[in-house]
Amino acid sequence: MDIQVTRVPLGVYQANCFLAYDKDTKEGFIVDPGGDAPYLDTVIEEHGMVPKWILLTHGHGDHIGCVPEIKKKYDIPIFAHEDEKELLNNANFNLSNTMITGALTFDADYYCKDNEVLPILSGVKVIHTPGHTAGSVCFAIEDKLFTGDTLFVSSIGRTDLPTASASAMEMSLDTIKRLDPNYFFYPGHGPGNSLAREMKTNPFLRA
Ligand SMILES: [Zn+2]
Ligand SMILES: [Zn+2]
Repeated sequence: MDIQVTRVPLGVYQANCFLAYDKDTKEGFIVDPGGDAPYLDTVIEEHGMVPKWILLTHGHGDHIGCVPEIKKKYDIPIFAHEDEKELLNNANFNLSNTMITGALTFDADYYCKDNEVLPILSGVKVIHTPGHTAGSVCFAIEDKLFTGDTLFVSSIGRTDLPTASASAMEMSLDTIKRLDPNYFFYPGHGPGNSLAREMKTNPFLRA
């Protein structure tokens, strides 16, 4: 399957939302719809994309800002890790009460587990990578990896926020080190990189 990925930085925190869709059918999923819905909608329409699923790498306010609106408009299900439920249900934990969006709480339609392969396009694998939050995940499809705020170019996510854990982050980085270096990864903020190059240059991924 030929999957197109478009990065759409949204909101004051410029959190990356991604549109990932089959180039033929235009059907696809939206990773982390933060920011505001009217702008994201124009990008979806420009690409002629048909959103079918919402995937959340984690539940922080800057990554979930327009989830309710996008879900309502397209009538599509939300997927998140089962350990992220607490954060999605708590505006203090997901930090939305301090953000421009205002307090935001909701439930995913489907709470997934580590190693599960979601029946989305050619299959989306869930890789549980707690640390930044308890239910942070990476989503893998073909040679693409969406890492949320777990892994950035040359850096990693914070581990001082509600449900975060520095020791869990260390184990998650070990998990990432064992992944196929042929992945190209798309982080929650900033540009992406090949995992092979990142393994050589990111101080948090070097042995
Ligand atoms: Zn973020
Ligand atoms: Zn975050």
